Amino acid sequence: MFDKILIANRGEIALRVIRAAREMGIKTVAVHSTADSDAMHVRMADESVCIGPPPSPQSYLSVPAIISACEITGAQAIHPGYGFLSENAEFVQIVEDHGITFIGPTAEHIRVMGDKITAKDTMKALGVPCVPGSDGGVPDLETAKKIGEEFGYPVIIKATAGGGGRGMKVAMSADEMESAFMTARAEGKAAFGNDEVYIEKYLTTPRHIEIQVFGDGKGKAVHLGERDCSLQRRHQKVFEEAPGPSITPEERAKIGKVCADAVAKINYIGAGTIEFLYENGEFYFIEMNTRLQVEHPVTEGIFGVDLVREQILVAAGEPMSFGQDDLVINGHAIEVRINAEKLPNFSPCPGRISAFHAPGGLGVRMDSALYDGYSIPPYYDSLIAKLIVHGRDRAEALARLDRALGELIVDGIDTTVPLFHALLQEPDIHNGDYNIHWLEHWLAANMAQ
Ligand code: ADP
Repeated sequence: MFDKILIANRGEIALRVIRAAREMGIKTVAVHSTADSDAMHVRMADESVCIGPPPSPQSYLSVPAIISACEITGAQAIHPGYGFLSENAEFVQIVEDHGITFIGPTAEHIRVMGDKITAKDTMKALGVPCVPGSDGGVPDLETAKKIGEEFGYPVIIKATAGGGGRGMKVAMSADEMESAFMTARAEGKAAFGNDEVYIEKYLTTPRHIEIQVFGDGKGKAVHLGERDCSLQRRHQKVFEEAPGPSITPEERAKIGKVCADAVAKINYIGAGTIEFLYENGEFYFIEMNTRLQVEHPVTEGIFGVDLVREQILVAAGEPMSFGQDDLVINGHAIEVRINAEKLPNFSPCPGRISAFHAPGGLGVRMDSALYDGYSIPPYYDSLIAKLIVHGRDRAEALARLDRALGELIVDGIDTTVPLFHALLQEPDIHNGDYNIHWLEHWLAANMAQ
């Protein structure tokens, strides 16, 4: 096992990794920009190294600075968290070339899944059901229009390198194809340096259901059920739960096995998420994320396992601590993402926290790097806390969420907490009756944006 690992990240996810490492008796190294000298992850780690100025490209994304920090401190492995360098195949290659272990999948798997066209082809070949659409990249507008006619509108044009909801445009009819095609291409080029796009049938009322998988890199893999992440704003998840209110045990076992078998076949190592749209009882693959997800705690909640510990174990060449038969669902878990944002426009709201109190009690988990007097810097993601609740069933989890939100105090800045108070008044939320468009419609009707 490693003696010391470096966490190439910040905020709540850096704390999350430090906590797992500490329980395993592993020393931790935090890296930070000059804007984060007083950040909680720096205070909590055993050691810290300043790796550059505030802008991420010069600090959290600076590969030479991170490798140097490993060499100076003698860290044997790097945990990337999510975001930043977590799905950067070149980074993984460089890390391994320096004799450092990357806690995550291989560069090759990251590369394959990072390109959505290759990912779809690979999954299709592995027997995973996919959204009907173009066979690979669509070279020009004329071809795009032909595909639109063939599959019938609406269709969605997606940048193969896209992510975070960017590089995707819907064409409701043939008239909209030209502008959607050109925009998706331009966004792909501008944000990801790649203008290749592909086309999928646009599903009108699906849910976003994702399957958590975990592999040991030696041909063994399990699934940890699904998360329903349909409540999204601008394709960004805001509320996630497990198990999914619409998924039956039979459906779970079936799609779970398809996913576990697929990743076992490619000797996948570590945590991964296979994302699907789910409509009329059918699953349609959209993409795979080769990392720990923001919403992993809801899965941990219902299975009682520590996914970060498991990631570290398999990276060190140890066996996984559980098999498929050990994974039994217990109750229901919900996560809400609390962002430093001002409603109704969700505009970023960094600043000084004048008072902070985290909720507690049975079934409440708060993953956050906030503290009293902390100043949220303006340079990074606006996620400041994840509140995760667990109950014996969905109704208990919702009641607990309401109670925990009531205990939470974050003074000095605006947050998205009022959104969750309002959502908890909605019968559809209590009935689990929502799809990927529900929240956008609700926001349009309830918050003049
Ligand atoms: P990203 O990598 O940017 O997150 P995804 O491919 O995961 O992009 O899609 C993000 C979201 O976009 C999905 O959760 C869903 O809300 C919507 N979406 C993607 N593909 C389709 C589709 N074929 N039909 C309907 N909605 C889609």
